[in-house]
Amino acid sequence: MSGLDLRDRVRDVPDFPTEGIIFKDLMPLIADRVYFADTIKQLAEWARPREPNLVLGAEARGFIFGGALAYELGAGFIAARKPGKLPRETVEATYALEYGTDSLQVHRDAVSPGSRVIVLDDVLATGGTAHAKIELVEELGGIVVGVLFVIELTFLDGRTKVGGYDVHALIQY
Ligand code: AMP
Repeated sequence: MSGLDLRDRVRDVPDFPTEGIIFKDLMPLIADRVYFADTIKQLAEWARPREPNLVLGAEARGFIFGGALAYELGAGFIAARKPGKLPRETVEATYALEYGTDSLQVHRDAVSPGSRVIVLDDVLATGGTAHAKIELVEELGGIVVGVLFVIELTFLDGRTKVGGYDVHALIQY
């Protein structure tokens, strides 16, 4: 391990996007070549033994980490997107937000049955988003071999939403 503390490049932004939320801004980490490379290396070290052939990430930060991780692993990348963005036939999962619901879609042919998929996101908060992505992979016959995050907000107990899966986060708050 590098000995870097990834927390040194995570910026707390109070009251964003709404009052009372402390937003974990990962842009300084992504912009720092040493910290970004180290993050991807650590994600890959955990993911590699699980032998994934695909990484799934949702827009937008999931694309940044997911694309780099897929490249590092020699795996493919699948984009989970907000409704209306993907051009071909999709499957959709809806999940609860603080107010109302949101949905993610992937192309119906994005995961072939039996594919080994790492579900990746920057932050595990309540776990709703991760759970929706797991649903999409499984609906298409894929196997979720790991659920991976850069940051876990432990006080929100998102892990219970993804109970029964192999879950890991590089840093916890
Ligand atoms: P959740 O579905 O509640 O686990 O929320 C996860 C998604 O919301 C992740 O994709 C995060 O990017 C984003 N998110 C939720 N809370 C935060 C936070 N405090 N700081 C940064 N991103 C967050």
